[in-house]
Amino acid sequence: MSEFEVVVLGSGAAALAAAVSASGHGVKKVGIFEKASVLGGTSAMSGGMIWIPGNHHMEENQIEDSREEALTYLDSLSHGRMRTDLVEAYVDIGPSMVKWFEENTEVAFEIVESFPDYHPENPGGNQTGGRSLECPLFPFGELGEWAGRISQSRQMSPYLLMNETSLGRGPLIETPKEVLKSRAEENLRGCGQALIGRLLKSCLDRNIHIETDYQAEELIMENGTVLGVRFNTPSGVREVSTSNVVIATGGFEWNKNLVNSFVRGPLQRPVSIETNTGDGLKMAMRVGAALGNMQEAWWVPVIDITAEGENTIPWMVNRERANPRCIMVNRDGKRFANEAANYNAFGAAFHQLDPGTFEYSNIPAWMIFDQEYLVRYGLCRYRGEGRVPDWMTSADTLAELSEKIGCEGLGLEETVASWNAQVADLDDNDFQRGKSVHDTHWGDGTRTTAATLGPIDKPPYYAVEVRPGALGTKGGPQTNANAQVLDVDGNVISGLYAAGNAMASAMGMAYGGAGGTLGPCMVFGYIAGKHAAEEARKK
Ligand SMILES: Cc1cc2nc3c(=O)[nH]c(=O)nc-3n(C[C@H](O)[C@H](O)[C@H](O)COP(=O)(O)OP(=O)(O)OC[C@H]3O[C@@H](n4cnc5c(N)ncnc54)[C@H](O)[C@@H]3O)c2cc1C
Repeated sequence: MSEFEVVVLGSGAAALAAAVSASGHGVKKVGIFEKASVLGGTSAMSGGMIWIPGNHHMEENQIEDSREEALTYLDSLSHGRMRTDLVEAYVDIGPSMVKWFEENTEVAFEIVESFPDYHPENPGGNQTGGRSLECPLFPFGELGEWAGRISQSRQMSPYLLMNETSLGRGPLIETPKEVLKSRAEENLRGCGQALIGRLLKSCLDRNIHIETDYQAEELIMENGTVLGVRFNTPSGVREVSTSNVVIATGGFEWNKNLVNSFVRGPLQRPVSIETNTGDGLKMAMRVGAALGNMQEAWWVPVIDITAEGENTIPWMVNRERANPRCIMVNRDGKRFANEAANYNAFGAAFHQLDPGTFEYSNIPAWMIFDQEYLVRYGLCRYRGEGRVPDWMTSADTLAELSEKIGCEGLGLEETVASWNAQVADLDDNDFQRGKSVHDTHWGDGTRTTAATLGPIDKPPYYAVEVRPGALGTKGGPQTNANAQVLDVDGNVISGLYAAGNAMASAMGMAYGGAGGTLGPCMVFGYIAGKHAAEEARKK
């Protein structure tokens, strides 16, 4: 049986951060064990942003922030569901985590320019940017044989920085095609690819042992203490011995049974890596871990698109909802929320239950837009005039569109007439769309109120169904501020840690800002690795 001082399960940002941190804090034998054939999990498929209030790049750029502001902001989003000890650990350790990685590893960060928090007008909220960071481009050639074994999104270009999209410092400026072509030739990658590439390079530099196709199945325990892990592998069951295990196996969003048992409402489309089936959660449950935040996910509205020759792709619609000339309606043809609102908060609109009918009021829901929207902004991979893909419903009149998608009565026509009247005055009285810096930031790039308000008046008209999706679940074993897993009586389970979406999130229901999920992955991964290293040295 092979032996390690620290074993990390999974290979997303939380796992790799834990492994690098353990090694960097003095552990010689660290092992990473990943269930999939590729490394990087959902993290490599992501935008790669991390949300770290008070990070040193803010000070370098004369952007003010403080511990108090960050705590006040998170408290305003808590609804009593955030654990103070975890939130304080996050805010206190976040900035030093960023510094430590920059000083000791290949990982580096820079500010994603002018990206406001997701609820910027709340007390302590940031309206000008600075809390959201991303990694500079990373040459994948440095990963050697691993370069071709990293998970990848079908929605995002691997060769772009967030700072080069309209959400970063480049509103309305497209990165030239020849730049992208030369990056592809050099294999220079940004966003989640850069974050995972840099973390992985740091692991390789430190000779951290890595296995793929190793599905962690069970913790080997004696007298309540971790002694090792049992894995399913293509060549049979394998065991490793260790006294420190970090569970960083992502959420349980791809396990229908667990989702139905725990999550607060419909979660129809996970957009994460499909290997996230809650294995780590079950391992922790078997050894008596206390669970927390199990009802929550990082919610996101999703549409199904089917490109020629490909399977259906669940496509997150975030900017798409915020652009002008587009609204969302329910089966009554009525708007039901500020369409430009933050994607995680939008989950609550999908989960609204009508007590009379006992139906979800806003499932199904549709995005409704006009021809001008398609010409100006496009949707997913389609832009322009002419024949539209099959996943869009089109009609020459709103009445016909309404009938085709099954809306009741005159609802849709009346809703669009009322919307057009309100946007003529640049004032959405119904849902205050465009009144937050958040909405205008996510809109058409002009950063004005009109960035998100515009009439729907150029036929043909279009509808696409939008479903409640998630980037991942955010419940799991409860931990203390050292990321040590607690049992149902609140005692530490010796040698067991959890980080990332596998742990009971410090964030409760909320998503503070861009990077609000990877931020906690990095912070609690770093904390777990450091603490496990200290314990390993003692042993
Ligand atoms: C398109 C997209 C863009 C996003 N952009 C951002 C962003 O910019 N900022 C942000 O904060 N968040 C973003 N997110 C969300 C973010 O990517 C996830 O919340 C985050 O990556 C979760 O990290 P993790 O390390 O907990 O899990 P993951 O990265 O999902 O890694 C979990 C790993 O564990 C492995 N695993 C599962 N079971 C086992 C087992 N039994 N044994 C061993 N390994 C196992 C899985 O195969 C997987 O590789 C985005 C998500 C998507 C889909």
